[in-house]
Amino acid sequence: MSGGIVEGICLRRTAYGEHDAVVTWFCDELGKRSAMVRGVTRPTSQHLAACQLFVQARLLFSAGKRLPVLTQSEVLESHYGLRADLLRTACATYAVELLDRAVEEAEPLDGAYDLLRSTLGHLVAAAEPEPALLSYELRLVTLLGYQPVLDRCARCGDLIRETRAWFVPPVGGLVHWNEAAPSEPAVAVDPRAVKALRRLIDPQTYGLDLRLAHLPAELAGPLRAAVRAFTQEHLETNPKSLRFLEQVLHDTDAAD
Ligand SMILES: [Zn+2]
Repeated sequence: MSGGIVEGICLRRTAYGEHDAVVTWFCDELGKRSAMVRGVTRPTSQHLAACQLFVQARLLFSAGKRLPVLTQSEVLESHYGLRADLLRTACATYAVELLDRAVEEAEPLDGAYDLLRSTLGHLVAAAEPEPALLSYELRLVTLLGYQPVLDRCARCGDLIRETRAWFVPPVGGLVHWNEAAPSEPAVAVDPRAVKALRRLIDPQTYGLDLRLAHLPAELAGPLRAAVRAFTQEHLETNPKSLRFLEQVLHDTDAAD
């Protein structure tokens, strides 16, 4: 494989006719790219592996009538561990659907490919997958231009220390405890949740290793509520996979 090759991660596959499929990848540099894959459901297809959800592959497309056609593929990373565990599957399914819904076809988004690739790697390797998913959401909305305000008050602009505060998605982030209006959709966050949000949105600066991060049970509720409300507020999307994720999280919490 040589010129014109891109790297992509499979976001979606839709059957087309008896043996073909339209497959959507998120590609380095190109952004989201859909292509026709001929004969992919045949067991002999050389493209079968590259067209599985979450798989990272090198891809070569040629021009087609309506859509590009996949002509060559080579798997780089199968992320097989995401299929072996229901919670990891649910987290990864939500992660790819969120990106799929957030971006238009062929619209590159700087940093998004590396973010998705590293997140899928963390979702495979982490002792607990949830911190990596929450971090992914906070960083994805940031790449899309909606960085939540976490270092200061999104209402008055003054610093917020690690203290009790509100997280108010329509206002843009944290708000001082005495400044939220009763009618606003707000999530109460305690000092530990404030600290966790700051670390999750910028794990590198804080030296947070997402493979080792632990989400204490008492923080899971407010962090999930805050991050999901912010994502929904700014991406205006309600991924189908969110309900599946919430059900799996509910069952996992109940089993702990
Ligand atoms: Zn304030």
